[in-house]
Amino acid sequence: MNTIEYQLIIIGGGPAGLTAGLYAARGRVKALLIEKGATGGQVLLTDWVDNYPGFAEGVTGFELMDTMTAHADRFGLEKKFAAVESMDLQGDVKTLHLDSGETLTAPAVILCTGAKPRKIGVPGEEELQGKGVSYCATCDGPFYRNQEIAVVGGGNTAIQEAIHLTKFAKKVTVIHRRDSLRATAIMQEKAFAEPKINFIWNAQVSGIVGTDSVEAVNIRHNDGSESVLPVTGIFVLIGVAPNNEMLPLNQLQTDAGGFIITNSEMRTNLPGVFAAGDIRSKLFRQIINAAGEGANAELAAEHYLSSLPG
Ligand code: NAP
Repeated sequence: MNTIEYQLIIIGGGPAGLTAGLYAARGRVKALLIEKGATGGQVLLTDWVDNYPGFAEGVTGFELMDTMTAHADRFGLEKKFAAVESMDLQGDVKTLHLDSGETLTAPAVILCTGAKPRKIGVPGEEELQGKGVSYCATCDGPFYRNQEIAVVGGGNTAIQEAIHLTKFAKKVTVIHRRDSLRATAIMQEKAFAEPKINFIWNAQVSGIVGTDSVEAVNIRHNDGSESVLPVTGIFVLIGVAPNNEMLPLNQLQTDAGGFIITNSEMRTNLPGVFAAGDIRSKLFRQIINAAGEGANAELAAEHYLSSLPG
């Protein structure tokens, strides 16, 4: 198959990639955005977004990402739906190989491959995934009408989704390994005021029990004691792991968790290679940050392209 040449290739169609794409389209850069599924990224796993500026009444995750996609489309962003299987990011020309068999090249690449939910790694988790073990409350919440379920984690995702799950479940038990939450204060206030939510503090899930579906979770308390909580569903919402499987990790500098290290202009250690959004090594993962980083990365990429000879 022929090699298709671009000036800029953006990998990933979440808030970072779509914003980079919007800026590239407006900058009249010959750019391509590659996405393996639907555009939207992890925001599609979120029922409701209450902190994206400009949406004073809040917005569903789906509508926000549909709007971001339409915005980039309005300026003619070229998109391709395919998976990147491998890439070589060293040298002046970066080469990407797609599962479609195509090869793409560009002097500049922006990596916006995002992150995915982390697993707890306890017995029963793999076996019962999709049978009561879930990583997405928006996707699976409606299956638990009038049932008793557990949520693991104490961050923004766990607490926001625990609140969302009270729309369906009879009782939601949040299991958290410390005695205070990491989630933002307004989210904590809502959770503490919600009668359907109760907390098991200073405890971790040590196993998930069930034959064909989840029947209970085993809990190990920090004082050494153990207990069993009968539930029909468990939502594991304990942070994210990088989507870096297709990245050349022998070329890119990453942190210990496998997230890409950049400078404040989103430049990686490789000239012409930029990263934005949740794949970056950073403390705060917010939609607004991802969008801002996408804009920064694209502007830095345009600056890089304009510095190239010819
Ligand atoms: P997070 O902020 O990293 O929180 C992860 C939570 O899971 C923490 O409470 C952590 O406990 C707990 N945890 C981690 N590993 C665990 C393990 N092995 N067993 C049990 N518990 C474990 O992750 P997140 O909540 O998924 O959020 C990811 C990013 O997205 C964050 O930057 C967050 O602010 C952002 N986010 C923002 C919003 C919003 O602004 N509305 C909504 C969702 C997510 P410790 O507290 O003890 O570390």
